[in-house]
Amino acid sequence: MTKKRYITWNEIFDRLVEIDRPGTLIYGVPKGGMIATGFLKRATSMYYPDSADIILDDLIDSGKTRNIYREKYPDKEFVAMFNKSNGSIPPDEWLVFPWEADHPAGEDTIQQNIVRQLQYIGEDPEREGLKETPDRVVRSWDELFAGYNEEPEDVFKIFDDEKVGGMVYLKDIEFYSMCEHHLLSFSGVAHIAYIPNGPVIGTSKMARLLDIFARRLQLQERIGEQVTDALMKYLKPIGAACIIEAKHLCMACRGVKKQHSVMGYSSMKGAFLDDARARAEFIALIK
Ligand code: ZN
Repeated sequence: MTKKRYITWNEIFDRLVEIDRPGTLIYGVPKGGMIATGFLKRATSMYYPDSADIILDDLIDSGKTRNIYREKYPDKEFVAMFNKSNGSIPPDEWLVFPWEADHPAGEDTIQQNIVRQLQYIGEDPEREGLKETPDRVVRSWDELFAGYNEEPEDVFKIFDDEKVGGMVYLKDIEFYSMCEHHLLSFSGVAHIAYIPNGPVIGTSKMARLLDIFARRLQLQERIGEQVTDALMKYLKPIGAACIIEAKHLCMACRGVKKQHSVMGYSSMKGAFLDDARARAEFIALIK
């Protein structure tokens, strides 16, 4: 059984640094050697081997290609990035180069994209602690951005058709969201209220409504508006309110570096906007 070994671009570039010499003329054997030669900064790549100093191939496998070139150009140096014939690569290993179709680097997966981000910040994505990181990040996104897979109307499918006239409220609902400006988290609590005009929803549904909007790239203000908009649209209450208090990581660890500041936003609609008593009652209740 052969096992596939996926050569990374880093391995290619490391080998090229060893091979590259100023002023050297290099001919790359199609197509692996030719692709690699294109990355060489100082050496001049050649269309024909005749005037090259080095003939570069990606791999010496059986040695057949090398022998052909050696016979034809006996005075040229033949170099391969990887050599199977000298025992440096186990015979059962099948090398897959990053430009080949069945290499994951060629697929441009979202994980590959995260690898590039790790390289950008100066990390080595191959080191033990980071090997599984791209996969973990993608899995955590499934959770952090679950809101994109849900619609507010899902929450309002079942009404409890009770006749109540008082204010329904849920306070101190914890939430986590991600700021759309820096892709950093902000979190805190929300207080949601509405004054029913017939239909009501369960309190857990109010918390779920908040999460549907919070689990997206967001602005704190927009979450508040979306929560009250959805309540007004689907429940048609006399009024809806949402107060959100949150700490923003983007403010704490970068920029102004204010670690303890709490940002507040208040969205009031219907009676909560028009009637100072309704507003005052809600504020008193959540205190
Ligand atoms: Zn931010």
